Amino acid sequence: MWLADNRKPAFEESRPDASSSLDPADWPAFRALAHKMLDDVITHVETIGQGPVWQSQPEENRERFRQSLPAGPSDLSAVLDDVRTHVMPYATGNLHPLFMGWVHGAGTPVGMVAEMIAAGLNMNCGGRNHVGIDIEHQVVRWMREAMGYPETASGLFVTGSSMANFVAVTIAKTEALGLESRRDGLVAAGRDLIAYASAEAHGCIAQAMQLSGIGSANLRMVPVDTAGRMMPSALGMMIRQDRAEGRLPFLAVATAGTVNTGAIDPLGDIAEIAARENLWYHVDGAIGAIAMLSDEMRPLFSGIEKSSSVALDFHKWGQVPYDAGFLLVREGEKQRRTFDQPAAYLQRADRGLAAGDTWPCDLGPDLSRGLRALKTWMTIETLGADRIGQSIAHTCALARHLASRLDAHPLFEVKAPVALNIVCFGICGGGSDLVRTLVIDLQEQGLAAPSWTMIDGELVVRCAIVNHRTTETDLDGFIDIMTAYLRGCGF
Ligand SMILES: *Cc1c(COP(=O)(O)O)cnc(C)c1O
Repeated sequence: MWLADNRKPAFEESRPDASSSLDPADWPAFRALAHKMLDDVITHVETIGQGPVWQSQPEENRERFRQSLPAGPSDLSAVLDDVRTHVMPYATGNLHPLFMGWVHGAGTPVGMVAEMIAAGLNMNCGGRNHVGIDIEHQVVRWMREAMGYPETASGLFVTGSSMANFVAVTIAKTEALGLESRRDGLVAAGRDLIAYASAEAHGCIAQAMQLSGIGSANLRMVPVDTAGRMMPSALGMMIRQDRAEGRLPFLAVATAGTVNTGAIDPLGDIAEIAARENLWYHVDGAIGAIAMLSDEMRPLFSGIEKSSSVALDFHKWGQVPYDAGFLLVREGEKQRRTFDQPAAYLQRADRGLAAGDTWPCDLGPDLSRGLRALKTWMTIETLGADRIGQSIAHTCALARHLASRLDAHPLFEVKAPVALNIVCFGICGGGSDLVRTLVIDLQEQGLAAPSWTMIDGELVVRCAIVNHRTTETDLDGFIDIMTAYLRGCGF
């Protein structure tokens, strides 16, 4: 047993010169620079609505990031000045209330501070016995509760829902083929595995099929109704046909909030079919699942609690800074047996740093991983689930407001039902080219950042209202900006 007196190991004397450390030589000077930078980032967030939504980088700015590897040091204060002039003005724009082009979260100041703390503590959350693992478990418990999952459920932070969906497909595949398929691969199984998702499913589902070796040709695109929701009767028919032709249906993927229009597949109906047909039932809830925190919106997602797994993104509607994707799996044991590895360097002990039963590295492909859980835990702990839920419901109310204003306006026409927070609209008497130039011009002028998508073969303007900073006044102003633009084009 070591005593306090013994703490100084003998090699202390022979320690090399302190200059081999990468820590600052002058801590007070470092502290002052870091405090100033923190202030500047806080001001950036506090005043985000006053500047342009986005601005294109001038060529000189790109030049700053095309230099060769620096052999020697630079002053931190000079590097921070470069960050102020060459980085901060040219960010994505998703913090700004009129960024609506894509489903991007806006972050929160709390999340920003959490990231700083997480970087300072620099925990490796692949496993081992430390508090980072407990924080992740805390969030897993909360998400179980929010999704109506049982205590047997496991959960894992990953980059985003693309990765969460891939992990879910991998678990479903392993469950369908048996554990020996981990060793023997797909070929040995000798069966054509078939998955089903709606025609509106996110492209990462097809990619997950490719990465898992099953192939995207084995993903059936189930037709959708006029509101963009999967038609369960078509799903049932496609499964029966595949079985009749000797293939092995193994996975049904429902989308809770499609990327194009925010449509929610009939989660309860798909759950029934998946149960009857013995398929893994995965919900891609990248956009929508976190809305389970809202009392008002929860009923829209009825049936999600019957799924085998749910992918969700805290970094979208949850407003946790990037990245913070998450996968919840009803039967945690199935997730563990798909991914655990017997390596000697990952062996567990009954106490000490290697203590602990299931580590995050047993639940997915990552070994080294950061503390995504801290920013998520701090965001939910500080704001409370109700307030986050209300802000989510509020963006949906804003989307309905925008849609009704556009519908009443002679220049615009709403093109898809507003199920959640996404509004797609066309310009009366204007075609695809006008939609494209309007969107790009507004972005380049820094006035607003909508995007476009295709609906029924037609290019339309798409506004996804995800930002907790967006207000009705912002959206009314957005309609004025577009009207002025179109009048300028002779409308
Ligand atoms: C955003 C999104 C994804 C991908 O999630 P990432 O976090 O970007 O990897 C998957 N599905 C849907 C429906 C999405 O909106």
